[in-house]
Amino acid sequence: MKIDTTCIHGAKDKTHTTGAIAPPIYQSATFVHPGVNEDTGYSYSRLQNPTREHAEKLVAALEGGAAGLAFSTGMAAITTLMELFSPGDEMIASDDLYGGAFRLFNTIAKKNGVTVNYADTSDIAIVKSLITDKTKGIFIETPTNPMMKVTDIAAVRKLTNGMDILLIVDNTFLTPYFCRPIELGADVVVHSGTKYLSGHNDTLSGFIVSKTAVLGEKLKYLHKTIGAVLSPFDAFLVTRGVKTLAVRMEKAQQNAMKIASWLKNHPKVTKVYYAGLSDHSEFEISKRQGTGFGAMISFSVDSAETACHVLNKTELILFAESLGGTETLITYPAAQTHADLPEAERLKRGIDGKLLRISVGIENAEDLIADLERALT
Ligand SMILES: *Cc1c(COP(=O)(O)O)cnc(C)c1O
Repeated sequence: MKIDTTCIHGAKDKTHTTGAIAPPIYQSATFVHPGVNEDTGYSYSRLQNPTREHAEKLVAALEGGAAGLAFSTGMAAITTLMELFSPGDEMIASDDLYGGAFRLFNTIAKKNGVTVNYADTSDIAIVKSLITDKTKGIFIETPTNPMMKVTDIAAVRKLTNGMDILLIVDNTFLTPYFCRPIELGADVVVHSGTKYLSGHNDTLSGFIVSKTAVLGEKLKYLHKTIGAVLSPFDAFLVTRGVKTLAVRMEKAQQNAMKIASWLKNHPKVTKVYYAGLSDHSEFEISKRQGTGFGAMISFSVDSAETACHVLNKTELILFAESLGGTETLITYPAAQTHADLPEAERLKRGIDGKLLRISVGIENAEDLIADLERALT
């Protein structure tokens, strides 16, 4: 089955007999036991719920993993994942990381005795230099947020072969439609399902997919114990969103390519960061490890005043956090998603007052460009 078909037929509902094409929303906290030591496969919705199970199987099928778990948010998924590690363990993470993950690693993980060392994971030599006998995990985001750096997943896998190091990839930006990290050697894929998977800016969710069933069982235990599970209604929304993942990703990427090319030629734009541009530093790696580049663009303008002007002036493009939905959104990373980073760290990474990020949606590209043109004058 090809991936666009998997989006639609990747999970079969085994619970109902009505022939309903959409999976029913089992809005039930608990389930009747037919008798002593008997159950229907479901007992209590924190442990499992049929609607959530459907979404979990679907996302696991898309990623080509053995087991999938659905969480209330992406951060809940990453937090649960961190419980695989013990005090004294070290992790290596991409330095240009989602702000929330950075906050989690530097506060809660640190308090729990897990040290996270940051590296530009697009540079394999740096990753190698940070591996010690305490390193138990490598957490990669690719492309990164917001600088769009791309990491060669297979090369990191090669580096850690034979070592007891879990390779985790946050695949929120590319989704399995464009990139399948497990096929490239990842042990775990994590998602903010809030973004492209659900795709309509109408629900929060998170997913973990594990390569092996053994790791899946460990994670399932943490999932039910910590309890940050996805609700039946939100699971329904994700399943519904995934049905159009392929067409949304294609259209958003087409738009992104047009917008990135247009921005490159604008006199007030000094730099465009988009993995799909042939002058992107890791363009060849992106081409090799996926089937697309996604639809996230960052760009620098000539001054912070211009940046603020753009944020105030776009009409169609909405000034709002988040990404991956049908609507095109613009953000100001320095003041929003990455405001929690210490200033020196932020500036070192290039996240200054001139940087803007766009999550390109599926509107008409000409309308989006006209909106940017107006805002940039
Ligand atoms: C949004 C996001 C998260 C966190 O997900 P939530 O659903 O907001 O909790 C994690 N990683 C990336 C790359 C994200 O964009």
